[in-house]
Amino acid sequence: MRLIMMGPPGAGKGTQATFIAEHFGIPAVSTGDIFRANVSRGTALGVKAKEYMDAGEYVPDEVTNEMVRNRIQEPDADKGFLLDGYPRTLAQVEELDTMIKSTGHALDAVVVLTVDQDEVVERLLQRALIDGRTDDTGDVIRRRQELYGEETAPLIEVYRDRGLLIEVDGMGQVEDVTQRIFDALDVVPQS
Ligand code: AMP
Repeated sequence: MRLIMMGPPGAGKGTQATFIAEHFGIPAVSTGDIFRANVSRGTALGVKAKEYMDAGEYVPDEVTNEMVRNRIQEPDADKGFLLDGYPRTLAQVEELDTMIKSTGHALDAVVVLTVDQDEVVERLLQRALIDGRTDDTGDVIRRRQELYGEETAPLIEVYRDRGLLIEVDGMGQVEDVTQRIFDALDVVPQS
């Protein structure tokens, strides 16, 4: 399975991505997690990414694309992967198309979690208390939501046109959302 998990900041992508990936025996590739790991290790990539992340801006496409290209070439991604937080721009969509095509495979589905904006802000503020993420402050949350609307939400139509889109109600209990995703993916033929 080659899957993408989309949704606005705080929709629960990361949590659901972990469950879904485990179920299908594929790695969950979270660009946000990879960036954060690099920031905490103080790598060159981390230094580059940190200023963008802290401001709620997107890390430049060239940096992000190269990181994803390297990650999905690792052996554990041979049988597939679930991308969480990528692609986020139209340029990233094109780049991902090239990456997947070069392996002779195709995307199977794009899951979009739909959520209530107000509840999502509440979730993000809660997460800030638990995880201490430096980009979960009021101003930065707003900027991340704005960017999602401008740059990332348009990708939904791109994937809908390709017949790959699966919209799932992301509100309610975590396990209910997981079940909805499984039910929706059940009917997707695996490549
Ligand atoms: P996330 O954990 O997915 O919310 O990502 C946290 C931050 O990492 C984002 O606000 C961006 O600064 C950066 N980031 C993650 N994925 C991408 C991406 N696909 N393109 C550009 N920046 C990204």
